[in-house]
Amino acid sequence: MGRKFVVGGNWKMNGNKAQISDILKFLEAGPLNPETEVIVGVPAIYLDYVKSNAPANVQVAAQNCYKADKGAFTGEISPAMLKDIKVNWVILGHSERRQLFKETDELIAEKVAFALESGLKVIACIGETLEEREAGKTEEVVFRQIKAIADKIKDWSNVVIAYEPVWAIGTGKTATPQQAQDVHKSLREYISQNISPEVAQSIRIQYGGSVTGANCKELGTQSDIDGFLVGGASLKPEFVNIVNAK
Ligand code: PEP
Repeated sequence: MGRKFVVGGNWKMNGNKAQISDILKFLEAGPLNPETEVIVGVPAIYLDYVKSNAPANVQVAAQNCYKADKGAFTGEISPAMLKDIKVNWVILGHSERRQLFKETDELIAEKVAFALESGLKVIACIGETLEEREAGKTEEVVFRQIKAIADKIKDWSNVVIAYEPVWAIGTGKTATPQQAQDVHKSLREYISQNISPEVAQSIRIQYGGSVTGANCKELGTQSDIDGFLVGGASLKPEFVNIVNAK
């Protein structure tokens, strides 16, 4: 069985009700390739609204959640709360969470494990900085980030990995299709050797970093790229073209 193409939109901290209703309009109008799974990552305060108003072929993700069901964690939201409003996905470990909010590999892995145990599906983000790439450490970094998660979970069937080189996020500098393919291939080999060949074969690895309507088709032809995680362009009608890249 082939891996189903999966395209996520990460709205980050953008949008208001008026803008979100415009986004929902272009998603509704589509048409969106039914062979592609589509997920939008929505600011927490709008999750319930988007879940209630999004077309049925568009799934909804939180952009973060904590590793407990409830309690004294001011400002956090829990997997149980997401499940309560029928949100089934969460994006964890985004580089902005890692860099701006100092989330460590360990914390992210704990959150991934807890979200999965709670019945959520997870888009787990990994990726190297420009400094790490230039120092020849790309593989070391992404393998370390995957290993932290592998140490905490056994079942990968509800995980999508998003490989997002930090230097390509929001910068307009996309990884070339070959650069992305090389890392995706290495990740699959690492997973095959260190987790299992079956997981390596079945797990979907998205590319993220300045994906646009103009560059998505070529990126999508690479054999180990199984979809995209899209920031800026997911707020614009060109997101439909990205969903339909394959
Ligand atoms: C992202 O936020 O995950 C992302 C890839 O952003 P952009 O597409 O804007 O680079």
